[in-house]
Parts: sequence; structure tokens; C-alpha cells
Amino acid sequence: MDGWFPEIGLLRVEGDEQEALHGRAMAVARERFGRRVFVRGVVEVSNYCRENCHYCGMRRDNRALERHRAQVDSLVRMLVEDRPASLTDLNIQAGEDPVAAREVVLPLVQALRRETSLGISVCLGTLSESLTGELRDAGATTYIIKFELADAGLYRRLQAPGTLEERIRHIRWLAGQGWNVSSGFIAGLPGQTEESLMENFRLAAELPLIGCSVSPFVPGDETPLGGSEGAGLGLTLNAMAALRLMRPDWVIPAVSALNLAGPGNGYRRGLRTGANLCTINLTPDDLREDYLLYKRDRFIMTEERILEAIAAEGLEPSRESLEGFLCGIAG
Ligand code: SF4
Repeated sequence: MDGWFPEIGLLRVEGDEQEALHGRAMAVARERFGRRVFVRGVVEVSNYCRENCHYCGMRRDNRALERHRAQVDSLVRMLVEDRPASLTDLNIQAGEDPVAAREVVLPLVQALRRETSLGISVCLGTLSESLTGELRDAGATTYIIKFELADAGLYRRLQAPGTLEERIRHIRWLAGQGWNVSSGFIAGLPGQTEESLMENFRLAAELPLIGCSVSPFVPGDETPLGGSEGAGLGLTLNAMAALRLMRPDWVIPAVSALNLAGPGNGYRRGLRTGANLCTINLTPDDLREDYLLYKRDRFIMTEERILEAIAAEGLEPSRESLEGFLCGIAG
């Protein structure tokens, strides 16, 4: 399958053809990873953001949003003493907020490295080289940084973070510094043609990544795109399947927004399309409602929901951490 690249028509398939595509993607994932699915937690630690993406409610121009940063001590307590048993890794995520990165994330990474065996990833945007190096020295090993969309014109119009060129340069720089880098893109954005969606596959294939996500566009509350039409579940799943066939070895998450694109069964269908990572949301209640990636009324993926979805698809949570798995590949 190496060197395989999806044809544009795959994005449109429906009915039996779609089922066959998704079945092929799932078979490729099973061949590579078996039945195991990595289970990672996420804590969202700040909804301050200096960027202004049109598709996100945390954009700096949303003055109506109450902004918060989490308390390190209570997070450490919860994650050291009271975390879900199935968790092997943790992702610490925030808007692009260098203050939170230094004052919340850095001490949290240090404490988790000292007191747990969790694999640690961060998703914090493009921070300075020195702060990024401090996070790495503290023990974070994976950096999640989505390139969002590979169409430079649309990227500019939607005010995605910085410029596309900067984003790509940063991804390459992170990989060069020894980070495992995972990226991602959005399917079904307003103004995104099929050709421009295909550009995402070309870019992803060129980048030094260990994984990539496909997120359905969701018209977010309190955003300039709030009145637009959301991405269909079919398109999103077809893109996920194409990505899995393109890169059998990648970590491809079932993103929580699949619950919004396909209420009821979207998330499980993601697992049926070759996804091999699930995320339990552990954000403290007081921050959760204002962490406005999509809708105020969030559908929270608890441990119970994740384990139910994994079991219902005949899969099982990995006992090995994602960090340990990636280390094994590298070493
Ligand atoms: S998508 Fe990320 S960088 Fe863009 S506004 Fe939202 S939190 Fe900030």
C-alpha cells in the first residue's frame, strides 16, 4: 500500500461502494495494529487564544467569551490520584496562549513525568523555540499541530493560525527537534472544493508525521461561519478511510466532532473506518463550557462512552501507551 494515493472520486462514494471503502480501511488498520485502540485523555487548560480562526469560537475576536486558565494543583491531583484506569497517555491542549503554556502546561508536564507513567503530548500552537524546548525537556514527547487546510488562499481567508507556510515550517522544525508530530485537517469547510480537500492529502503525505486527524467542519457557536452548512459525515469518513489507506502506519484518531457530524453513530463509524485512537475528555467542569471549539452544548466523551464504543466495535483498549509504541518504532 506504500505510495498509494487516493483518487478524488473516493471522497464521493456512497452506499455499497462506501461500505467497501471503509471496510478496506478498517482491514488495513487491523492488519497493522490488531484490535487495539490507543486511549488518551485530554485536558483543555486555557481558552485564551491569540489567533483568530473563523471556524473556532475561541478566536481572539470573540469578546463575549469568558476566558480562563486552569489551576495546576487541582489538575495534578486529578491526574495523579483520580484518572480513568484505561488511560495510557495524556494530551494537554489550549488555545494559542504562551502564558498558559509556561504557567500551567510546563509544571503539569513536570509533575506528570515525575509521578505517573503516562505518555505526554501537547497541543499548544506555534510557541517560541525556547518554550517548546522546555516542554520537551520536561518530558512531553508528542506535539499535535494541525495544519488545518492545505489551500493557502482559503487558509488566509479563514485566518487560520499564522500563515500556512509558517505552520508547515514549524511542523518540520518540531520533527527535526525530535518530537513525534501529529497533524490534522478539516473536511467540508465553506469554500473548500474537492480539489482543495485533496491538497490536504498531498501535504500530509509530504510531512514528517506519526499521525493525522480529519475533523468535520462544524459551524461553531459565536463564529463568523456559524450560519454555514456543516460537513457531512459521509465526506468526513471517506476522507478518514482514504487517509488510512494512504498511511496504514499512522495514528488516526476518532475525533469527538464525529458525534456532531453524525449524531448517534458517527463516532463508532469512525472506529469502523480505521481510526485507532480515542480521547477521553478530562477538562475540569469550570473550563469545559467556555472551551468553545464548536458548540456550547458539548457532547463529552467520558471513559464510559469511549470504552462502550470500543467494545461495541469488537476492539480493545491498548495496554501499551502510544508513547511506548512510538518509542518502539523509533528505537
Ligand atoms: S482553532 Fe486553535 S488557534 Fe484557531 S482560534 Fe481556535 S484555539 Fe485558537
